[in-house]
Amino acid sequence: MAKNLIDNNLDNKPLSIYVHIPWCIHKCPYCDFNSHELRNSSIEDQEKIYTDALLSQIAISNDYSRRTIHSIFFGGGTPSLFSPDSINRIILAISHQFKLMNDCEITLEANPGTMDKSYFEGYKQVGVNRVSLGIQSFNNGHLKILERIHDKEQAFEAAQWARKLFSNINLDLMFALPNQTQTDLLEDINTALAIKPDHISYYHLTIEPNTIFHKFPPSLPSEDDSADMGDIIIQTLAEHNFHHYETSAFAKEFKHCRHNMNYWEFGDYLGFGAGAHSKITLEDNHQKRFSCYKNPSQYIDSIKKNSPFIEEKLLTQNELIFEFMMNALRLNQGFKKKLFSSNTGISLDQIKKELDEAKDKKLLVETSDMIKPTILGQQFLNELLQIFMRDH
Ligand code: SF4
Repeated sequence: MAKNLIDNNLDNKPLSIYVHIPWCIHKCPYCDFNSHELRNSSIEDQEKIYTDALLSQIAISNDYSRRTIHSIFFGGGTPSLFSPDSINRIILAISHQFKLMNDCEITLEANPGTMDKSYFEGYKQVGVNRVSLGIQSFNNGHLKILERIHDKEQAFEAAQWARKLFSNINLDLMFALPNQTQTDLLEDINTALAIKPDHISYYHLTIEPNTIFHKFPPSLPSEDDSADMGDIIIQTLAEHNFHHYETSAFAKEFKHCRHNMNYWEFGDYLGFGAGAHSKITLEDNHQKRFSCYKNPSQYIDSIKKNSPFIEEKLLTQNELIFEFMMNALRLNQGFKKKLFSSNTGISLDQIKKELDEAKDKKLLVETSDMIKPTILGQQFLNELLQIFMRDH
């Protein structure tokens, strides 16, 4: 492997941080995230002990202290269950351990059903500069089927409040919902647009294994109807100047999510908290992947024992190629050719055969400096990725 292709000066290589907050008021029936319903305990019981564990994990991550953090993302679960004071403790610990870029993007995911205005003001005061609201739908019937803990009014009020306070907000929405019609969809899109968000993440509802919906499948729109809904979303958001830059992501100018762009460009990231994953370039230019214990109690215990990681491994050449493509080909504008070698350490010449095959099948196009999926490649992303699954 041509390891010298990676920029040896790791100080210049941006690093993102993900912080996982694993609790929710209620487990949604479609959700396969590492999220745990608060049953016999209150969030106050969990918040202090879990925040302490996060601070300990941050404190033992000094191997990477030289690196510059360009984004922090509080995801979950429901991070908006945590008080601004706990979020502040975590941000301060990160800024003591690492160099934070001046305009570091700091996102916090919030559930409209946990909306506390003083919390939102507090998040802003402690440095959160982007809020991502898990709206999913503005239709009360759909919200009920999805077992969300908020209704349409709460969703709208939370989004308006976030809009007033923050200069960068994202709305998470879902389509192809049980019994959803095109009229329902357009109502959702228009309500979202009325809030004037900077970014919209529009996900197709998928039925994942180990979810309640998998056990008791709801009646979903047909594939053709879902595809039509996807087209309506793309067209309507384009008419409102949203750039469709990734499979599910739409942004106003300069409002692309920096944190997610780093994943899609196969950059380095550190994950703190239960089940959080990390991928990091080492001094010797190998790339290491590791993750924390998934169960929150196990995670807290593992921190006490000073050994929070499971599944530590170096990525093989095949994994580097496939994982790079799996992420970067989600970007509709594709990726810069030099990014492939700088973020994998592998020359593009080594995958010439695969690139030619993808181009022959009209799934990819190549320009002097870019590689980009065609519309066909975006529609048949799995077929395109399979080409890069071979042994090298
Ligand atoms: S609120 Fe979000 S993370 Fe929690 S269960 Fe529902 S979908 Fe999952």
